[in-house]
Amino acid sequence: MELYELGIAEAKEGLAKGEFSSADLVKAVIDRVHARDGEIGAYLTFDEEGALAAAVEADKALNGLKGLLGIPIAIKDLINVKGQPCTCASKILKGYVSPYDATVIRNLKSAGAICAGRVNMDEFAMGSSTENSGFHPTRNPYDTARVPGGSSGGSAAAVGGDLCIAALGTDTGGSIRQPASFCGCVGLKPSYGRVSRYGVTAFASSLDQVGPMTKSVEDAALLLQALAGQDEMDGTTPPEPVPDYSAALAGASLKGVKIGLPREYFIDGLDPEVKAVTDKAIAACAAAGAEVVEVSLPHTEYAMAVYYIVAPAEASANLARFDGVRYGHRSERSEDVFTLYTRSRAEGFGAEVKRRIIMGTYVLSSGYQEAYYGRALKVRTLIRRDFEDVFTKVDALLTPVAPTPAFKLGEVLDPLTMYLNDLFTIPSSLAGNCAMSVPAGFTAGGLPVGVQFICDAFREDRLLSIGRAFEDAIGGPRLGMPRKG
Ligand code: GLN
Repeated sequence: MELYELGIAEAKEGLAKGEFSSADLVKAVIDRVHARDGEIGAYLTFDEEGALAAAVEADKALNGLKGLLGIPIAIKDLINVKGQPCTCASKILKGYVSPYDATVIRNLKSAGAICAGRVNMDEFAMGSSTENSGFHPTRNPYDTARVPGGSSGGSAAAVGGDLCIAALGTDTGGSIRQPASFCGCVGLKPSYGRVSRYGVTAFASSLDQVGPMTKSVEDAALLLQALAGQDEMDGTTPPEPVPDYSAALAGASLKGVKIGLPREYFIDGLDPEVKAVTDKAIAACAAAGAEVVEVSLPHTEYAMAVYYIVAPAEASANLARFDGVRYGHRSERSEDVFTLYTRSRAEGFGAEVKRRIIMGTYVLSSGYQEAYYGRALKVRTLIRRDFEDVFTKVDALLTPVAPTPAFKLGEVLDPLTMYLNDLFTIPSSLAGNCAMSVPAGFTAGGLPVGVQFICDAFREDRLLSIGRAFEDAIGGPRLGMPRKG
């Protein structure tokens, strides 16, 4: 195995045994990025010098090795890392340099991780293909004619293409799980409030969560451990204790685990190859001793409508701060303060971001607020109750991640069709549950397909344990497959 192919657990072990140094590991990743990223386009920037310097420091400190010491982690470009660019893949933030570390970065750094590479995304995390990046699209490492998914497409392509050891993504309605499925990696969306959002550029504040994108469930546990916990800088993180996630994996088994299949998720429009992989996954769970039952989440059909009211409403408020005055791009054609605002925003934001702002201000405008936004919030409560009910009956839900495998660049042009990618990931985001995409198989053409496990809020320990046992049930982490050249 090449060093860049390693996951976190393997890298930790090699470093601890002195088989290689952190500098070796970081160099291997940088060389790999030079060799392969021209074709993939996962990264926006990489502070190579900074990464190597941090690796040399880590090597001096290596003894007993705890946490993530000396391990490079790719960071989605909307998370602030002091001294590095943070563009959210938007022209409006071109040239912006973060003056501070997000809490998740502070946590990673204190665990010893090296955060130097910044990865591509859909502009402000709006999209499902990374084609909405204001700079360049990212390509799927399994087939470069196809998208890596989105909005955390850079993170997924970097993990799936072995251009990093692990990555951070963010998920508002599916942006960790769908690209993880498209690129053959594990992607975990934590429960709302499990991980601090301080220093993470906001898209929809009641939905956004940072989470790990990794090569195995074991790695997801290691990375989540460093991320999770209450933060005094984010009032939506509760004082809920953080369990030992790696310990939760010990003896992971599906024996006696009750897995629900929500009937609303097994729809006619499901791609036959996705269905085949999902069916095989269900059979593997049953063969490993899980008790599989059909369940119902009756308000599922309203989730898309609710999301496309709530998320744009919050986005329109959050993105008001990009006005040409305080951050990034400022129009040179302004005559007064009003044209300064409007032209800076017109020039800086891409089409999808503008579409969301227009939708958001519309549903919040006087006369419509109660009809749309107010009602959406009420239906959101019903969706959350569906999950609360179902988790009194089962330990976890198993569903497809997305209706199709990775599609071709330029293939999905209509925004509404693009929105349908998140049909199966949005409901649990609205409810605030934790959910994870785990690689489950391949299409005949060799494209990865994941399945989604969903657990009750703050039961990441159970989610990880089930995911780990599932990996074994289908042939081991990474499906026992050699990594992609
Ligand atoms: N694709 C969805 C959207 O465009 C979800 C994005 C996300 O989770 N950040 O809103």
